[in-house]
Amino acid sequence: HADTAMYQAKEAGRDNLKFFESRMNEEARERLYLESGIRRALDRREFILHYQPQVDVRSGRVVGAEALVRWNHPDKGLLMPGTFIPAAERSGLVVPLGKQVFRSACIQQVRWHEAGWQDLDVSINISALQFERPDFLGFIREILLETGTDPTHLKLELTESALMELSEELVDRLRTIRDLGLTLSLDDFGTGYSSLSYLKRLPITQIKLDRSFVMDLPDDPEDAAIAETAINMAGNLGLDVIAEGVETEAQKEFLLERGCHYMQGFLFHRPAPAEALMILQELD
Ligand code: C2E
Ligand code: MG
Ligand code: MG
Ligand code: MG
Repeated sequence: HADTAMYQAKEAGRDNLKFFESRMNEEARERLYLESGIRRALDRREFILHYQPQVDVRSGRVVGAEALVRWNHPDKGLLMPGTFIPAAERSGLVVPLGKQVFRSACIQQVRWHEAGWQDLDVSINISALQFERPDFLGFIREILLETGTDPTHLKLELTESALMELSEELVDRLRTIRDLGLTLSLDDFGTGYSSLSYLKRLPITQIKLDRSFVMDLPDDPEDAAIAETAINMAGNLGLDVIAEGVETEAQKEFLLERGCHYMQGFLFHRPAPAEALMILQELD
C-alpha cells in the first residue's frame, strides 16, 4: 500500500498545482481588471479629494489640510486609497493619478486663499514613483504657474521608505523643491529605518509620527518611548513634528505634554470634502 500512498500524494500534488494555477490566473485577472478600472477612472475624473485638518492644539486652530484621494466609483461608491493605491503603484498609474491629485489640491488651495484663508497649508501625498520621475520638477513648476498656487503654503508628504537611500541627484531635487518655496514632510515616520545622520542631510521641515505609534499611547511603554524619542529628536534637529491618527484625549495629552502640538486625527476632524472645511476658518 506504499504505492497507493505515493499515488495519492501525486494526485494531491497535481490538484494543489491546479488550484495554485487557477488562483494565480484569478489574481492576475483581478489585477488587470482593477488597473483598467483605474485607467478609465482617470479619464472620467472619478478620483476626488477629501481633506483632513491639521490642528495646532495650543491654539486649537486649523493650520493645514492633508489631501487624501478617494475613488468615487460609479457602482461601488466611495473607495478608500487602500483599495486602489497599491494597484496604482504596481502599474505605474500612480503617476498620472498623482498629477491629477496635485493639480486639484493646488486649485483648492487657491480657492481657500482667495476666500481669505491665507495661512492654510495644503499637504499632498507624493508616491516614490512620482517623485523619481525625471519630469517631476517640471510638472510642479508648470502647475504652480498654471494655478497661481502659493508654494510657501504647499507641503509635500513623502514616506520614510520613499526617502531612504536617495541618490545625490534626488536629494538635489528635494533641495530644488524647497528652493521653490514648498515644504517637505516625512510621512509615516518610524516605520522605516532612516538614521539620524541621514535625516540631517534631507531638506525636510517636518516629521509625521506614524499612527501605529500613536494608537496605543499612553499605555504601551514601547510606543511611549518611541513617540517621546521621535519628538525629542525632531526638536533637536529643528524640525516640526505632527502626530497622525490621534483619536483620544489621553493620546492628545501625552503628546502635548512631550512637546508635540501639531496633530491630525479623528479626535479633531475626519477627512471631509473641501466645502466642509471652510467653516473651520478663523479670521483674526
Ligand atoms: P497617510 O498619508 O499616512 O494618511 C493618513 C491616513 O490615516 C488616512 O487614511 C486618514 O484618513 C487616516 N486617519 C487620519 N486620522 C485617523 C485616525 O484618527 N484614526 C484612524 N484610524 N485613521 C486616521 P486614508 O485616507 O485611507 O489614506 C491612506 C493612505 O493612502 C495615506 O496614508 C497615504 O499613504 C495614501 N494616500 C492617500 N491619498 C494619496 C494620494 O493622493 N497619493 C498617494 N500617493 N497616496 C495617497
Ligand atoms: Mg500623508
Ligand atoms: Mg501618514
Ligand atoms: Mg500613516
